[in-house]
Amino acid sequence: MSFAKALRCKECGKTYPVEANHVCEMCFGPLEVDYDYEGIRASISRASIARGPLSIWRYADLLPVDSTNRVDLGAGFTPLVRAERLGAALGLRDLWIKNDTLNPTGSFKDRVVSVALSKARELGFKVAACASTGNLANSVAAHAAWANMDSYVFIPADLERAKVITTTVYGGTVVAIDGNYDDVNRLCAEITSDEPTWAFVNVNVRSYYSEGSKTLAFEVAEQLGWKAPDHIVVPVGSGSQLTKIYKGFQELYRVGLLDEEPHVRISGAQPDGCSPVATAFREGHEFVKPVRPHTIAKSLAIGNPADGHYALDVVRSTGGSFESATDEEIKAAIRLLASSEGIFAETAGGVTIATLQKLAKSGVIEPDERVVAYVTGNGLKTVEALAPDSEVSATIPPSLEAFAEFRNAREKTQGER
Ligand SMILES: *Cc1c(COP(=O)(O)O)cnc(C)c1O
Ligand SMILES: [Zn+2]
Repeated sequence: MSFAKALRCKECGKTYPVEANHVCEMCFGPLEVDYDYEGIRASISRASIARGPLSIWRYADLLPVDSTNRVDLGAGFTPLVRAERLGAALGLRDLWIKNDTLNPTGSFKDRVVSVALSKARELGFKVAACASTGNLANSVAAHAAWANMDSYVFIPADLERAKVITTTVYGGTVVAIDGNYDDVNRLCAEITSDEPTWAFVNVNVRSYYSEGSKTLAFEVAEQLGWKAPDHIVVPVGSGSQLTKIYKGFQELYRVGLLDEEPHVRISGAQPDGCSPVATAFREGHEFVKPVRPHTIAKSLAIGNPADGHYALDVVRSTGGSFESATDEEIKAAIRLLASSEGIFAETAGGVTIATLQKLAKSGVIEPDERVVAYVTGNGLKTVEALAPDSEVSATIPPSLEAFAEFRNAREKTQGER
């Protein structure tokens, strides 16, 4: 049995049973899963985790699902790599990349979807659905196929071609909406009240969905030898991921898996073309003012972020910061990460690395801090962003002479530089 004992309102603290419910009836605040932490502390240990599967489910005691109900494509336990070359370029001596491009459908969304659909099945839902900026669509369609559930995926009509193809391949129903993500999300909230038998992973089972992001903290701590890093950089769309990574580090200490109370500074990354949370941070506002998104980082193009306010709180209270990056800076950062570490990230990863670069330059991140940058999605899904400036060095006939000619010309121009 899971140790989840209640859903608790983040605003007024009222508790509810662990059911299909996501808003407080008293104050409309979001509900968050609360656990029997004493029970977890007695059951869990570093050794028991080490014996578990190489996936998010090695932390099952800290997730809100009974063990028999897992919808599992193997999400999680992605590499945490020491980034010496990128670190040298940015003046950071202890930099690490959490490479979540290597999940089953190529993004961190597999973590949250695996948890959400596991819980949805347990609660008796037959249909999986979502409002998506792209990666969630891939992941819901794939996990629903595995679980033998029908799926309805709603996306903005202007999504990257690769994300559409990699969703339709799994079967299920994909509906493009003439509008941006915020329009899609509003429509899905309306459909949810009409279709109580559908599990909208990021609407009516959002409280369970978001718990999956805690595994991004669990894995990093375990991979660093059960130590929390000093500073992390996290991309922000809805803000859910950032808030739950914070919760994850706190929980590890609470259940005795970390010896010392973690003091992780958490910094957020947004694209300039959709930076409502970064803007609120810079301007010192308590609340996030919605914007109309226009950016190549479509997976972060949420103009009215559901957890923006909480993400702002976490960043402020941990002594982190916020930065945002232009489309050009995002593309340059994708190339910098690829050419220094051999990791090809999607545009959201470009936002993270560009932000990391700015925070290092301004001294917000100190040269000796142990830093982890979360690279959350695979570059193969957003190749359009780089296509215009990605020419081959030459096209030549298949002969040695032609190659020799090309090589001489190239050495000459390189010699002149
Ligand atoms: C969805 C997404 C994010 C943002 O996560 P939120 O929880 O919405 O803040 C970051 N990176 C990628 C690749 C995503 O798909
Ligand atoms: Zn409430």
